[in-house]
Amino acid sequence: MTEYQCQKCGYRFESSGKPYACPYCGEIGKVKPSPTADDLINEISPRRKEAKETKKE
Ligand SMILES: [Zn+2]
Repeated sequence: MTEYQCQKCGYRFESSGKPYACPYCGEIGKVKPSPTADDLINEISPRRKEAKETKKE
């Protein structure tokens, strides 16, 4: 599973394949692979606490 994020509305979700459109707002072509929470923690170490808060809805 790869995590993706919509560049328009910021909605994050996981998908096994390349999503065609954002499942939340329906925008086509705006969905990009998103870094995992671990990647964010490693990149932005000073903001470690905020990066740990992943949205799971
Ligand atoms: Zn969206």
